[in-house]
Amino acid sequence: MPIYKAPVNDTLFILNDVLSLERYNNLPGFADATGDMVEAIAGEAAKLAEEVLFPVNLSGDQEGCKRADDATVTTPKGFRQAYDLYRQGGWIGLAVPEEFGGQGLPYVLHTAVGEYMSSANMALTMYPGLTQGAIAAILVHGSDEQKAAYLPKMVEGTWTGTMNLTEPHCGTDLGLLRTKAVPQPDGSYRISGQKIFISAGEHDMSENIVHLVLARIEGAPEGTKGISLFIVPKFILKDDGTPGERNGVTCGAIEHKMGIHGNATCVMNYDEATGFLIGTENKGLNAMFVMMNEARLGVGLQGLSIAEIAYQNAAQYARERLQGRSLSGAKNPDGKADPLIVHPDIRRTLMTIKAWTEGGRAFTLWTALKSDIAHRSADEKERQAADDILGLMTPILKGVLTDKGFDHAVMAQQVFGGHGYIEEHGMSQYVRDARIAMIYEGANGIQALDLVGRKLGMNGGRAVMALFKEIGDFCEENRSDEKLAPFTKGLKKGLNDLQASTMWFMQNAMARPDNAGAGSTDYMHLFGLVVIGYMWAKIAKAAEAGLAGGAGEREDFLKNKLVTAKFFMERLMPETALRKTRIEAGADTVMELAAEAF
Ligand SMILES: Cc1cc2nc3c(=O)[nH]c(=O)nc-3n(C[C@H](O)[C@H](O)[C@H](O)COP(=O)(O)OP(=O)(O)OC[C@H]3O[C@@H](n4cnc5c(N)ncnc54)[C@H](O)[C@@H]3O)c2cc1C
Repeated sequence: MPIYKAPVNDTLFILNDVLSLERYNNLPGFADATGDMVEAIAGEAAKLAEEVLFPVNLSGDQEGCKRADDATVTTPKGFRQAYDLYRQGGWIGLAVPEEFGGQGLPYVLHTAVGEYMSSANMALTMYPGLTQGAIAAILVHGSDEQKAAYLPKMVEGTWTGTMNLTEPHCGTDLGLLRTKAVPQPDGSYRISGQKIFISAGEHDMSENIVHLVLARIEGAPEGTKGISLFIVPKFILKDDGTPGERNGVTCGAIEHKMGIHGNATCVMNYDEATGFLIGTENKGLNAMFVMMNEARLGVGLQGLSIAEIAYQNAAQYARERLQGRSLSGAKNPDGKADPLIVHPDIRRTLMTIKAWTEGGRAFTLWTALKSDIAHRSADEKERQAADDILGLMTPILKGVLTDKGFDHAVMAQQVFGGHGYIEEHGMSQYVRDARIAMIYEGANGIQALDLVGRKLGMNGGRAVMALFKEIGDFCEENRSDEKLAPFTKGLKKGLNDLQASTMWFMQNAMARPDNAGAGSTDYMHLFGLVVIGYMWAKIAKAAEAGLAGGAGEREDFLKNKLVTAKFFMERLMPETALRKTRIEAGADTVMELAAEAF
């Protein structure tokens, strides 16, 4: 049976030693996040993940969701009870302002504990996860009445949320959207159309479901400029604010899909459903983007989370499974064979996942902290600088961590040999669950295009230049520190490849945009390598500082960080040169074959 233990010590090390969370206690909500408080919250979250969510993960995968003839949907056994404990613990509103029933704590803390929940049970965690995205969109774009009417119940978790963009003919290209909204004399709209693939679209865990729906108001322009966002509650609220009449939105079917079986992926039929405009007419995509950006960070976190749990299981298996002898002589001479962990190739596999996952955790928390600064700092310049980095990192975090999440689930499965292919070990579930994160919230190819086509050039390249300077300065400042040299040297080389590739795009992609398109996925991964390399260099610095200050009980923990940092620089960082070479090959060959030749 699979195992899971939340990596609390690792999280605390990143928050305290690498990011120095206490430096930010001038930001609203941070003063409450004292070291003790953060430790207590991480500990409680770990307990919920390990003892409540994880035990129904494998069974939820096997059982799946069921739709009855009356269009109701039942989630797997134990999901409701687990969700109740999740919401009662106040986890949905951890970072939501107190005036709406939240706790106003830092978003970085919400992200830290979110990892545990997704590792333990990704399918279940998506129900509150989508609710959190919907809360964010209503917080930013909803009217005061809408905030008062919906947020407290959503924060409490008695109502959940969804996002409805996709239609059968319209996925990436939202300009093709057909769902229609007809204005009514009372200011509401009648929404009609079909949405597909709607996560948590219908289920049995909450009293109401607040659908956020993209639709085109009658007479609005074609394309993305004519899309508006609506709240369509499953039960229309009565005057006293409680759920009343059933709205004209129903689940037509649930999809039979590769993974996340415990999450209901629904076809949602809107038949003159009552909807309420959020924000401004025809500016729906801006409002939905608040939700999508939040969701993209959450999806990147899913990639990391699945890699982590797959790794933990593979590491345990490698320690226990006896097979073959060590190349350097028996390590378990009393046994008939040595454990898998003695074999260098198994170690390479585990080290690769470990280095990406621990570096990815630092990357995720560093980015979440930028979100806190961007939204909470009193200093406008600081807010803008943080927002620049957050925007630049969002496609990288989503695209790289989910591509790697799947790769690493497969690598961890490989450690199990044939046993990894058998369902009861759980490894197959991780591979299947991880796969969707590469697709939804903008398929990863689209993340790469967003990075190269939009984010790089934004505000004259302000974000990318600031980040290159920050990383370059870090290398320069620590250049003379001998202990850090192995890390800064590798990082500087990676940064050079990234800067050269950026320059290559500037010189070759303006006149020929296909050059940008053909190199975009390599560029996204090249950027991911450099940013995670930067995280490893920071981790190494924090580990050296900890060891110099007398590490006590943490000595092994800190030394292990240095070994993993070295592995990242020796074995993973050099991939930047390969990525750069591919980018510089340009689009000519990629575009040469006629469509019929494929
Ligand atoms: C399990 C599951 C849950 C989902 N949950 C939700 C949800 O809750 N709400 C919701 O609204 N949607 C949801 N989706 C839909 C998901 O977001 C879409 O499937 C996704 O956005 C891609 O759209 P598509 O499937 O139509 O693919 P397409 O848009 O047809 O794209 C197909 C491929 O072509 C690539 N591509 C498309 N356009 C371009 C281009 N211009 N340049 C280069 N490459 C391109 C894409 O990267 C992709 O690889 C879910 C999907 C699944 C499977």
